[in-house]
Amino acid sequence: MVKPIFNKVLADNANLTDYKHAQNQIPPLCTQPKRLSSGGINIGYEAIDRHLGTPFEDKVAIRWISKKDQIVEFSYHQLSKQSSAFADLIHHLGLASGSRIYSLIGRRPELYITALGTLKAGCVFTPLFSAFGPDPIRSRMEIGDANVVVTTLALYRKKLKSWWRELPHLKAILLIDGNPDNEPDCFDFHSLLANATQQSTTAKTQPEDIALLHFTSGTTGKPKGVIHVHQAVEHHMISAYYALDLKPTDTYWCTADPGWVTGTTYGIIAPLCLGVTMIVDEAEFDAERWYTLLQDQHITVWYTAPTAIRMLMKAGDALPAQFDLSALRFMSSVGEPLNPEAVEWSNRILGIPFHDNWWQTETGGIMIANYPSEPIKPGSMGQPLPGIEATIINTDDSNQPIEEQAPMIIGELAIKSGWPSMFRGYLNQQQKYERCFTNGWYLSGDLAMRDEDGYFWFVGRKDDLIKSSGHLIGPFEVESVLMEHPAVAEAGVIGVPDPVAGQLVKAFVALKPGISADDELQQALLGLARKKLGAAVAPKEIAFRKNLPKTRSGKIMRRLLKARELGLPEGDTSTLESDEQ
Ligand code: ATP
Ligand code: MG
Repeated sequence: MVKPIFNKVLADNANLTDYKHAQNQIPPLCTQPKRLSSGGINIGYEAIDRHLGTPFEDKVAIRWISKKDQIVEFSYHQLSKQSSAFADLIHHLGLASGSRIYSLIGRRPELYITALGTLKAGCVFTPLFSAFGPDPIRSRMEIGDANVVVTTLALYRKKLKSWWRELPHLKAILLIDGNPDNEPDCFDFHSLLANATQQSTTAKTQPEDIALLHFTSGTTGKPKGVIHVHQAVEHHMISAYYALDLKPTDTYWCTADPGWVTGTTYGIIAPLCLGVTMIVDEAEFDAERWYTLLQDQHITVWYTAPTAIRMLMKAGDALPAQFDLSALRFMSSVGEPLNPEAVEWSNRILGIPFHDNWWQTETGGIMIANYPSEPIKPGSMGQPLPGIEATIINTDDSNQPIEEQAPMIIGELAIKSGWPSMFRGYLNQQQKYERCFTNGWYLSGDLAMRDEDGYFWFVGRKDDLIKSSGHLIGPFEVESVLMEHPAVAEAGVIGVPDPVAGQLVKAFVALKPGISADDELQQALLGLARKKLGAAVAPKEIAFRKNLPKTRSGKIMRRLLKARELGLPEGDTSTLESDEQ
């Protein structure tokens, strides 16, 4: 029996008429879903099987590069056959539509087969970070009632073996590198796949059927299980077209870990829907490897995150000069605010600028972006996508949108409810979900401002806002100024309680390699901040750290900096990456 997890839909879909209009403005090529003959819609079908019988069929869908530089290619046709076999395999395991299939693997071909096959079977796909420890894995599997897990033998032995049989819903483990111990209910992924039928079949899912369950990054607290439905694919396609400028002629690389929502929406679904060739690199970050890949694979469109960009900046300017990056025509960033310094650096050193865009696990796809076709405003998130209405909601009790004529007032960033990839619930947290909506707006929990040209500027998370002597200070503004100093690799800013000012601004700074912290540098940074921000906003104190605590999706965890500073409990740290202080 599959337990229903679907919460009441709060979306009134009122905004969908505008959305459809925006969708109709663009060429139908691959940017509009081909409905199933049943009238339903299925993400797996849109990504893969819709290309069968078209000129895309034999095109390379995925070029996978292993850690040891082995290259394996899958055409759209091959990926269709493999994912159909996976869908068939799920049914042979006796699992019904709606079952929850979890993946716990890195960027391996089996991940893509699993994700697409799961969706085509009408089941729910949930990716986890393979670097998670046993506890975060177990709690996410318990919350989501996992039925099947696809993983590796090593991960299984290390992280699942001792407890998985205690989970009542978990029926089978599929091991991508075989089952040498012949454990009951553990299966060799590839032999099951080889024995399954490759004939293309797609479950007749309806737009509101659940397709994806994603866990948030856990930056502000305990990660939430976010529910997405098959209709989301409409926005996956259109947003990749508008905000990432993806065309079928592109060779595209998304560096996001598959455990994060970006790794699914823009690391699997959207690029395949649009018929591009996707590069998948199994290895972890390495500056030289990354530049080599960009060059050798002739990558044209690249989607990455500020944390990676900061690491590339840290690796120095001489390295990229050794590579021919001339194929690159569009670069984009998501996940955290992109400091203006990073935009300027990329333009100067890589030859084109990064385009920042904003979205969340809850929004399912990009909402606000610096478009390819519009001027970038460095430091801003850009403008809402066609069909997406964004506003700034007053944080006083009125909860009313701030007039567009009143620019640069801080409020909560909100999106008009009803876009296709809007989340349909927090798993088992209906009240929390309902509290996200007011007067037809979805409240993002982020603070932002809108300028007179309609660009949105990130200020900080609501939880991270600093109130000092009557000033509202967003950490991003202060961090960006510190980043301007050539010695600084990254910065995280928090407010610490102060009896006079309410809160004082404190900055934590990690330096570039080879630079050591001393009083002189500290004074220089304080001076720079005072000059640029004024004494009221500049940090009163700067502490140096080797690294800043980050989530596995690369976000600075300011709440952890604060808890440590104040000697408070650290709260949920299940998504914390190793963190050298
Ligand atoms: P949790 O909700 O568990 O605290 P999280 O919000 O970090 O974690 P995600 O959904 O992965 O989980 O991240 C969305 C958040 O990331 C946004 O709400 C925003 O704070 C931040 N973010 C994403 N893109 C940008 C951007 N371009 N500029 C500024 N912030 C961004
Ligand atoms: Mg969040």
